[in-house]
Amino acid sequence: MSDTDLGTLYVVATPIGNLEDLSPRAARLLGEVALIAAEDTRHTARLLRHLGLKVPMLSLHEHNEPARVERLDERLARGDSIALVSDAGTPLISDPGFVLVRALRERGRRIVPVPGPCALVAALSAAGLPTDRFLFQGFLPARTGARRQRLEQLAGRQETLVFYESPHRIRDTLADIAAVLGERHLVLARELTKSFETFLDGSAAALLGRMEADPDQARGEFVIMAAGAEEREPTDAASLEADAVLAALLAEGVGVKQASAVAARLLGGTKKAWYARAQSLKEAHGEGVERH
Ligand code: SAM
Repeated sequence: MSDTDLGTLYVVATPIGNLEDLSPRAARLLGEVALIAAEDTRHTARLLRHLGLKVPMLSLHEHNEPARVERLDERLARGDSIALVSDAGTPLISDPGFVLVRALRERGRRIVPVPGPCALVAALSAAGLPTDRFLFQGFLPARTGARRQRLEQLAGRQETLVFYESPHRIRDTLADIAAVLGERHLVLARELTKSFETFLDGSAAALLGRMEADPDQARGEFVIMAAGAEEREPTDAASLEADAVLAALLAEGVGVKQASAVAARLLGGTKKAWYARAQSLKEAHGEGVERH
């Protein structure tokens, strides 16, 4: 059997609410494969019924994923192609599939993404928060202590922060965000692509207030997005100490560029801001000025 006779694993994105979001390519491939590996076969059966398709299915969820690898690999080796789908959106994104895809890739199998809906991308695309850099964190921990700890670790990050959340925990999570991130600007995307799709803006406390006033705002599925931390300029109380660190680095013969990179890494703030500071320190000590 040549390589071209081997089957392909198609990683197929499915709708996160609106069935019209299934791509024609995804619909065609779901009808062409020999087998669909589905997070919940009953859930995917509804999608197949909608498409008028009858395709054999095998469940693949977090509890049986490692045990399924061998069986699916054998099918690919026999020349059968397989579609991997989750209940909604893109498989592997806070959904099963990573164990399978990694194992099959290690075995040199052909794996083809069939892109489509993904809640975090849909949410970011309409939120009006910076998207040049963002940090997707999936679901925050379920317990408040661990959740606050994770939020504290993220509080200084300048990228837009993106979280998934369920209706059971949305209020508790917003309360923890209020406690840790304070007045930070949030955008809450709810029920994307569905009839009650809503985007709410404001601090976590303000969003909780909206839910208090209108409990429907706490129903459904959520993507929480938080503006990144403001860039900290090196002008706070630690600045004298910071100057001393920079001066010591420069005195040791470290270049302005390197010294500012080290300062930014140790003390926060941008390399650019530290560069300007290091340069002025160097000038104040009567030394030459380094250029970019
Ligand atoms: N694989 C999916 C994707 O590509 O987005 C995510 C699956 S994860 C188990 C489910 C979570 O995604 C939900 O709890 C919610 O946070 C988010 N989500 C999924 N569909 C959504 C929708 N229609 N509106 C808002 N959030 C959604």
